[in-house]
Amino acid sequence: AKKAGRAEQRVFYDAMNAAAKDGLVIDGALRGAIEANEFHLVYQAITNAHTGKLTKVEALLRWHSSLLGPVPPDRFIPVAEDSGMIIELGTWVLEQACRQMGAWKQGTLDDVTISINVSAWQLADPGFVKLVSQALIRNDLAPHQLELELTERVLIEDAANVQAVLGQLRALGVGISLDDFGTGYSSLSYLTQFHLNTLKIDRAFVMDIEHSERSNNLVHAIIAMGHSLGLQLVAEGVETAGQAAILEKMGCHYLQGYHISRPIPPAELLRFADQRISM
Ligand code: C2E
Ligand code: CA
Ligand code: CA
Ligand code: CA
Repeated sequence: AKKAGRAEQRVFYDAMNAAAKDGLVIDGALRGAIEANEFHLVYQAITNAHTGKLTKVEALLRWHSSLLGPVPPDRFIPVAEDSGMIIELGTWVLEQACRQMGAWKQGTLDDVTISINVSAWQLADPGFVKLVSQALIRNDLAPHQLELELTERVLIEDAANVQAVLGQLRALGVGISLDDFGTGYSSLSYLTQFHLNTLKIDRAFVMDIEHSERSNNLVHAIIAMGHSLGLQLVAEGVETAGQAAILEKMGCHYLQGYHISRPIPPAELLRFADQRISM
């Protein structure tokens, strides 16, 4: 009976998810979802390409809606951005991730940085820098233990204001990472104009690095450029040992992807860290 129940639930979720295509159903289900405790974070390891040591951890948001079942972030983040709810949600992520890091810090993850994804709306919010500094203080974290991941879209939305906010965050000591680099709007002027310290090479290029000369050349060029600008480089979506080896040889500093670890719950991440921290 339990099995049938689960199958029925699946059919129900599928139907609801189909109906949710227009975003309206998602929008409705998002309201009250924080209070109902429907969100949690999973954490994905980012390791030193050379030593394998755990260096950073990216927090990734998960939503299990009581109405829709599990909804992937690619589906609900854009809806939350449209409604402005991303500010409240992003604030929750910031606090939750900092609290987790504060707890980990008592153990083996003292030297590890926590990375969180930040939307344009959040940066545009006048209280954002204060929110970040308060989350750090409240959870007894040093600013360099936090890194904010932004996409290029964030940078162009309101360039002058974003530049000022990023300047304040960097002055505070918080790291700024440019996510999904190489997709979309890529403009080299961003790299010098904004106060960045890390570039994340998009999975789309890493994916083909073993078989496509074009992707291989492109990644090589991004890494060379990053080096010359004094930026740290993270390769995203590393799924094979072959990709990891090529990236390490090209001088990419850090690796992230299923080959290293999937995004996992906090307890599992701690076990991963125990293996990797001493390397
Ligand atoms: P992202 O920031 O580029 O995050 C990386 C995505 O790639 C994650 O998907 C991760 O699970 C996936 N990934 C990591 N390694 C591999 C791999 O080796 N192979 C493949 N195929 N995928 C890999 P996820 O968790 O579904 O998140 C999707 C996007 O949703 C994120 O892309 C980010 O843009 C957004 N997102 C997630 N959490 C948050 C959040 O807290 N706030 C905001 N604003 N956006 C978030
Ligand atoms: Ca990211
Ligand atoms: Ca990314
Ligand atoms: Ca992405």
